[in-house]
Amino acid sequence: KTGQKKESHKANYDIPLPGAVEGGVVTRFPPEPSGYLHIGHAKAAVLNQFFAEEYKGKLIIRFDDTNPSKEKTEYQDSIIEDLKLLGVHGDRLTYSSDYFDLMYNYAIQMIKEGKAYCDDTLVDRMREERMDGIESARRNRSVEENLEVFEQMKQGTEEGLKNCLRAKISIDAPNKALRDPVIYRCNLTPHHRTGSTWKMYPTYDFCVPIVDSVEGVTHALRTTEYRDRNDQYKWMIKALGIRPVHIWDFARVNFVRTLLSKRKLQWFVDNGKVSNWDDPRFPTVRGVRRRGMTVEGLRNFIISQGPSKNVINLDWSLIWATNKKVIDPIAPRHTAVIKDNAVKVTISGAPETPVSEEKPKHKKNPAVGNKKVIFYKSIIIDQDDAATLKEGEELTFMDWGNAIVEKITKNEAGIVTGIDAKLHLEGDFRKTEHKITWLADTEDLVPVDLVDFDHLISKDKIEEGESFEDFLTPQTEFHTAALADVNIRNMKENEIIQFERKGYYRLDKPYSEGSPAVFFTIPDGKVTQKY
Ligand code: ATP
Ligand code: MG
Ligand code: MG
Repeated sequence: KTGQKKESHKANYDIPLPGAVEGGVVTRFPPEPSGYLHIGHAKAAVLNQFFAEEYKGKLIIRFDDTNPSKEKTEYQDSIIEDLKLLGVHGDRLTYSSDYFDLMYNYAIQMIKEGKAYCDDTLVDRMREERMDGIESARRNRSVEENLEVFEQMKQGTEEGLKNCLRAKISIDAPNKALRDPVIYRCNLTPHHRTGSTWKMYPTYDFCVPIVDSVEGVTHALRTTEYRDRNDQYKWMIKALGIRPVHIWDFARVNFVRTLLSKRKLQWFVDNGKVSNWDDPRFPTVRGVRRRGMTVEGLRNFIISQGPSKNVINLDWSLIWATNKKVIDPIAPRHTAVIKDNAVKVTISGAPETPVSEEKPKHKKNPAVGNKKVIFYKSIIIDQDDAATLKEGEELTFMDWGNAIVEKITKNEAGIVTGIDAKLHLEGDFRKTEHKITWLADTEDLVPVDLVDFDHLISKDKIEEGESFEDFLTPQTEFHTAALADVNIRNMKENEIIQFERKGYYRLDKPYSEGSPAVFFTIPDGKVTQKY
């Protein structure tokens, strides 16, 4: 409601990357294949692409696959597909694992130059020493001993497995990221690309500066939580004497009542709280698309937000409102009537047998095409609409014309059970108070299941020390049975429509004999909605 960003698909910022030269910029998006892409990753991917294009440079998509315990080919494949969907096509697709030999040689180089040492201090002890700025007992091992132990690590021997390799930077630097970080760790889990060739793997801290430098990356866009590790990144590059890279920070995007962590999302999958990674309640690229987010809406949103330096906790209504601007001009209009207590209206003067006519699916956009509307003396309307009517009132049946309400029948509970009306097509629709959606009560009605969802967690922001498991929303899926117009029968999965006066919907499962068409409500950013 700030009035800014009207042209939401245009970037409203002009941020120069430091030292950027047109044609000479190389950015990279480095997902770890340890889960499906979520909307935070989408932001990073789209921004990296945005900057590469701004400077007529290149984008590298790099699988940061250095931890075999978390990574799988399934995730890698899904990431490739999702990036394609997002329209993010890198100029090169690379893998950190392609550089395992190179990184190994650099590790040897560091050991030989006295810049790294093997350490078998127990994990907890090492953590304490790092916290307190205390030197490890192994810090001054000789080059020969380090080379020998590192070879044991490489072989994955009993002795090797007790050790890790640490960069010899500082024991007590105020920036704790500089306190001799671990740069190689043993892991006997087979790697999804290199199998059991390696028994030890470079850590993120060692791998990223090397691969960025070697691949010709000029600008490494990183989220701000890595800021403390920037000095360490620069130290690695300097220690190895390789080409420097500009680091450029931007903030992670967060959404209220939403977890953007692959590990936490995995918990929901493993505990059956969602159907899978593409669950419409999930903030994954697949999840939001299933919920009815368009690629255009998502990209427009990310680019309009820009690379803010402040961590923001966004409301979902913003992104859905951006999406609505994309779908509203093209979504065909259809009609659905809620089944529960639907009211039969008998209209005198209307066709005695059903008559069908072609009407535009979108009044302002003829390109959307036509649909079939059936006119008949017997129709159904929503109970909510029926409850607002009075005897003697003139109303408008949308896409048809006016009628006069002659008789309203109610039961003891005050629920409307039937209405008699008389067609009055000469009437002026501009003068009626109620404009009502309706459906001819014929065999052609299509049963539909309208599904709405709530956030998986019930607290806007899970604070440090709190556990998300304590804030699960008890019910997150809501079904409403309805009947829809005949045209819905042949709709295809993924189509997005509007049920007039109800909202936007995405067809998740087409109608088939005996089972209703399943539609997911697409939030449109109105504050009354859950999303
Ligand atoms: P997760 O906690 O979900 O596993 P991650 O950062 O560990 O996230 P990566 O696969 O390593 O996942 O991330 C790839 C890129 O996406 C990184 O550059 C990372 O900074 C960026 N990224 C991840 N989450 C967000 C977010 N919420 N907002 C913006 N960028 C993000
Ligand atoms: Mg990561
Ligand atoms: Mg993470």
